[in-house]
Amino acid sequence: MGLNPLPYLTTRRDAVVAWGRKYSLWPLPFGTACCAIEFMGAVSSVFDIARFGAELVRFSPRQSDLLIVAGTVTFKQAPILKQIYDQMSDPKWVISMGVCASSGGFYDNYCTVQGIDSIIPVDVYIAGCPPRPEAILEAVLKLQDKMQSPAGKPPAQFKAKEPTFDY
Ligand code: SF4
Repeated sequence: MGLNPLPYLTTRRDAVVAWGRKYSLWPLPFGTACCAIEFMGAVSSVFDIARFGAELVRFSPRQSDLLIVAGTVTFKQAPILKQIYDQMSDPKWVISMGVCASSGGFYDNYCTVQGIDSIIPVDVYIAGCPPRPEAILEAVLKLQDKMQSPAGKPPAQFKAKEPTFDY
């Protein structure tokens, strides 16, 4: 009754690969300020980001495919952020967490990057100051939708708007 009588399903190869990828995200938290504490909450047993397959937090770009930028980014930190992003292997994704990472927030001053998307491409933005752990979980779900959609592939080329300086 309503069940497929055939012992197999057909699908596309890229759909299966995307399905596997989206439930095995390895996040690298680039935590520079208070937002990083909320990220710790999202990984804790209370909010349990493991339910969405994204609990394997790594601090090595080689072993990560999801960069979570949590906090204010200064121009002095910008080259470091860019280098970490560049060192991650493709395909890779970026979540910008909180108003500071997304737009500079209330730090409208000479030393703060006014949005990390001037340095690296961003897939999902999280609003708020600080965003609650539930908002991080929602961002992961949105990213998973994007990963599964054919239009969600990362851009092949991204041109940074901000110069990144070597200090
Ligand atoms: S958005 Fe708010 S909580 Fe997050 S780093 Fe900025 S000031 Fe801190």
